[in-house]
Amino acid sequence: MSARPRVAVHKFASCDGCQLAFLNLGEPLLVMAGLVELVHFAEAGPLDPEAAVDVAFVEGSISTAADVERIRRIREHSHYLVTIGACATAGGLQALRNLTDGRGWLAAVYARPDTIDALATSTPIAAHVRVDLELWGCPVNGRQVLAALRALLDGVAPLEENDKVCLECKRRQTVCVLVARGAPCMGPVTRTGCGAICPSFGRDCYACYGPGENLNAPALRQRFAGLGLPAAAIDRRFVSFNAAAPAFRDAVDKGES
Ligand code: SF4
Ligand code: SF4
Repeated sequence: MSARPRVAVHKFASCDGCQLAFLNLGEPLLVMAGLVELVHFAEAGPLDPEAAVDVAFVEGSISTAADVERIRRIREHSHYLVTIGACATAGGLQALRNLTDGRGWLAAVYARPDTIDALATSTPIAAHVRVDLELWGCPVNGRQVLAALRALLDGVAPLEENDKVCLECKRRQTVCVLVARGAPCMGPVTRTGCGAICPSFGRDCYACYGPGENLNAPALRQRFAGLGLPAAAIDRRFVSFNAAAPAFRDAVDKGES
């Protein structure tokens, strides 16, 4: 890497929330800005989308033919490519259209659906180019983005946090909402990174950080069924923000309860 590494933040189909998580870092962002050269970050100001960079952060999913071409060019110009957030890592909410007749939805929403230039599917960045690191979440945790950047700048492999939200609850000594209140919490199958925010406010996790490692989806489905949730409602717990994540899709495809 050069003395002052060049960094870009690119956007595809998304709500911009992960870029905002970046911007909301406040002072640490200013420190980071002194360590790197931010060459492209449209939401923050700098514009140079074709610039060669040491680290490219990518928000959003691939939803158009033009997106496919653009992400290939970004990959060619980037030493490291890191996806940020549920859209970039698992297709996002917009990947719900992969499960149904997306064209029908367009016709129902838009007066002139023929003017919408969109692929039939919304797919993660890794479905199109090699990705060096995936950071999950809706939105991503700014602390994780900074930690990944520091690790890459220091020449070490970033630490992947893929244990479950439940562990974070235990570390925080948060009372379990599934056990104590019978709430259908997705924490037992969801990767941590958020600090178990939702249970700490007394509500169930809805899996915005995507699947954790070695998840036992059948057991959780059975538990939710025991709480009285019908199978369709259980399916919806698994396919929302991370609709294209294979582990959650499997949980639905193989699910019986
Ligand atoms: S509240 Fe949810 S995430 Fe926390 S320990 Fe209970 S099941 Fe796990
Ligand atoms: S507790 Fe679950 S839904 Fe809430 S922020 Fe964390 S991963 Fe997302």
